Amino acid sequence: MTTPLEELKLFIGGRSVDARSGRTFESLDPYSGNAWARIADGGPEDIDDAVAAARAAFDGEWGRLTGFQRAAIMRKCGDAIAANAERLARLEVHDSGKLLREMLGQLNSLPQWYYYFSGLADKIEGRTVPPVNPNYFGFTTREPVGVVGAITPWNSPLLLLTFKLAPALAAGCTMVVKPSEHAPASTIAFAEVLHEAGLPAGVLNVVTGWDRSTGEALSTHPGVDKIAFTGSSATGAKVAQAAVANFNRVTLELGGKSPQIVFPDADLDAAANGLVAGVFAATGQTCMAGSRLIVHADVHDALIEKVVARATAIELGDPTAAETEMGPVANRPQYEKVLGYLRGAAAEGATFACGGGPDAERGGLFVEPTVVTNVTPENTIVREEVFGPVLAAYTFTDEDEALALANDTPYGLAGAVWTKDVHRAHRIASKLRAGTVWINAYRVIAPNMPFGGFGASGVGRENGVDAINEYTENKSVFVELTGGTRDPFQLG
Ligand code: NAD
Repeated sequence: MTTPLEELKLFIGGRSVDARSGRTFESLDPYSGNAWARIADGGPEDIDDAVAAARAAFDGEWGRLTGFQRAAIMRKCGDAIAANAERLARLEVHDSGKLLREMLGQLNSLPQWYYYFSGLADKIEGRTVPPVNPNYFGFTTREPVGVVGAITPWNSPLLLLTFKLAPALAAGCTMVVKPSEHAPASTIAFAEVLHEAGLPAGVLNVVTGWDRSTGEALSTHPGVDKIAFTGSSATGAKVAQAAVANFNRVTLELGGKSPQIVFPDADLDAAANGLVAGVFAATGQTCMAGSRLIVHADVHDALIEKVVARATAIELGDPTAAETEMGPVANRPQYEKVLGYLRGAAAEGATFACGGGPDAERGGLFVEPTVVTNVTPENTIVREEVFGPVLAAYTFTDEDEALALANDTPYGLAGAVWTKDVHRAHRIASKLRAGTVWINAYRVIAPNMPFGGFGASGVGRENGVDAINEYTENKSVFVELTGGTRDPFQLG
């Protein structure tokens, strides 16, 4: 007997609706390889409907609420996410093959984002500005940018949506989200949960679609005021061009090739553990993956030995099983991409301290945890984002060289330094060209700490107090105080 597929529709204007075309597509579970859900296949006409619903909500009930009222609704959203965490986490696991324990951890932490930003919703204030010309009183206000188009990738759909949605709701915006075609289900269920919790109709709309033209229809839509994108740098460049053509605001959270620098005085066991967390957790499918190990030559062999020992002991298997530490790659195109990088590394002369190919025992979309050695800073495996469980290791001999190697990348999302020398730790942290730096730690994020990248890793920041600025316009107001008339031909 086969289990019936879950049916998930578009969510527009507070209602579940079929795609106008009537088409659907099947979502595959990367662990079982089987279809598990049937998803509405939305297109540009559905994006039109969703943008219209978001605009109506912005111009209607939601747009008239005070920050205090929005905050109250956001707190209920946080409570509802907590109550539905297990169900939403399981949908994410089916969608992406990531571990249940990882996704449960994410879902259990998401309410914090809504509580944190609800605390800012009633504190969005302008300023009074000292006059240059005493005939005028000047003040500023911050107003919501309007309708936000959010486009998300497949690796952590609800976390990355929340980075956008929580500040957008606090600011008073409405949203249309287009999740990845490879992991569409959880976002639809999430919108339903928030609507039931009290988020008014039209404030959050979801359009899923198999074809990439659905995302393109959103990023080029003239009815959208801002695009918030997370995905690859290549797609991000296209999205940014479309946003500029429409004079839209845009934030981009893109790829990475983040370094982990290990000095000889570091606690090598802690560093090895941080390296495993950085590149093998989530099967390496995180934007902040610490995929470059830049290690002092004196401790290279000892550290590689420790990382290899832990990597080869990683428990691969069913993402829902409590003992599993690494699941499959999330979809076949990504699996092929990772294996292509491994073949390319071997062809460029690299060696594998462990791993190096598909996991023959398990088959499916499993790739072995891989440590690549004998690479140079010019090798493709060092320069390009793999987005898989692959660590490339190379050496340095002094601090300046370590920094030069770490910063020799078009990316700049994150990085770490492992040392017991507090002076050196701060020197490195200040000179790493990256949006987030960890000292003796890796893969830690928080709603109140800004997240985003230098260079090809993105534009703008998510999270933290300033994220509100990404969803508000700054308006200047001048008030004439004298009641008199002025020279109309002179700038005031
Ligand atoms: P992707 O760029 O292929 O797709 C991202 C989203 O964009 C998907 O929803 C896709 O359908 C949509 N899209 C595709 N073409 C489009 C177009 N022309 N116009 C508008 N939308 C379009 O990325 P992916 O493979 O889903 O995700 C992996 C990438 O995401 C990696 O590069 C990773 O580093 C990055 N990422 C970054 C962060 C971050 O916060 N910096 C977080 C997670 C993932």
